[in-house]
Amino acid sequence: MNISSSHHSTLLYDATDLQRWRESLSSHDHRPLIGFVPTMGDLHEGHLSLVREAKRHAQYVVVSLFVNPTQFNNASDFEAYHRDESRDAQVAVNAGADAIFLPSPGVIYPSGAQTWVNVGALGDHLCGATRPGHFRGVCTVVNALFNLVRCHIAVFGEKDYQQLSIIRQMTRDLHLPVKIIGVPTARESGGLAMSSRNTRLTPAGRREAMSIYKSLTNAQRLWREGEREHSSLVEEVKRELSPLLKIDYLTLCDPHSLQPLADEQQTHTALLAIACFVEEVRLIDNLMLGSS
Ligand code: AMP
Repeated sequence: MNISSSHHSTLLYDATDLQRWRESLSSHDHRPLIGFVPTMGDLHEGHLSLVREAKRHAQYVVVSLFVNPTQFNNASDFEAYHRDESRDAQVAVNAGADAIFLPSPGVIYPSGAQTWVNVGALGDHLCGATRPGHFRGVCTVVNALFNLVRCHIAVFGEKDYQQLSIIRQMTRDLHLPVKIIGVPTARESGGLAMSSRNTRLTPAGRREAMSIYKSLTNAQRLWREGEREHSSLVEEVKRELSPLLKIDYLTLCDPHSLQPLADEQQTHTALLAIACFVEEVRLIDNLMLGSS
């Protein structure tokens, strides 16, 4: 792979490469040494905002490109995942990454591996309910990546709010010496949350998908105006959503426990989270109500 850049960059494939690279680093200032941005590649501006945030907190930033087989519950979704490591490495380096980690499945999951990181109650709802085993795959790979990279900080997107919550929980529960940093969702000009999956949409599908953010912001407006009946907020979102979208879940939940809120439960903030299918492509988004 040939990466041309003004940045000094390194491609790393396994634990030995990572160790050699770490040994070559020298500390120039007070920031923690290594920041980490795990991704499945197919990088877009949302991923790059994570790289830039990592760079603000750490001297050196590692970006991993690994399409993790254990977090897919649908083999064709895994196969369809777009892979272009040369292009991804180049754009990550241009955004400030110092090293790109490109492990093969055998590096992450040694032959005969049989140990998993299981998720507790935070995994019971939202994507955890409709994608069985997904977060077990996510936590297992993130834990392995943290141990391989030995990062001091790691950056994740708030677009995957439940994933961020579960990783914070795992980091606490397993005493992992990594500080977790969340970054707000990067959106396209119409508000659609950036996602590697958006490129699979036709122009018409993309227009339908724009109704996701529109309907969420409408609920946010109603919340600001004082609407607190959760079921009617959810109904309003459904009314605004394109009828061509197939809803996987649409939930107003407690931002900490991720438990769905009953109408009588009054909270200062509530997370409105949605997953839906547009042209067979599964998209997720969320908005915090009451945070501003
Ligand atoms: P993925 O490659 O989809 O596994 O995502 C890698 C990281 O990028 C995760 O921490 C995601 O939450 C984050 N991410 C994906 N899309 C966005 C976005 N639109 N804005 C901010 N972060 C994102």
